[in-house]
Amino acid sequence: MKCSICTNQIDVQSNGWEEGHCALPLSNGRCCTLCNDTEVVPMRMAFIQSGRSIPKEGLKEIIDSQRKARALANVSLKHITREVNLIKKKGKLRRK
Ligand SMILES: [Zn+2]
Repeated sequence: MKCSICTNQIDVQSNGWEEGHCALPLSNGRCCTLCNDTEVVPMRMAFIQSGRSIPKEGLKEIIDSQRKARALANVSLKHITREVNLIKKKGKLRRK
């Protein structure tokens, strides 16, 4: 099983547990002990200390979906701009 944060193989713990740790709030998946100790636990502490509730969805997934939405918005905006410019051009041609 791969760590959902660093993508390295998840370490096997001394009791034989192979599925790592819950990576929330950083990612929806599982993570290795190193990422858990250095990234996930400090992130949880930061949320608790700031008085904010810990997100139920991984920040990694939230950022990914925002990036996709932004890319889609950019494509749509480009398309709309092109359409508007075409309409303007046609309008100018008709006026001549
Ligand atoms: Zn890791």
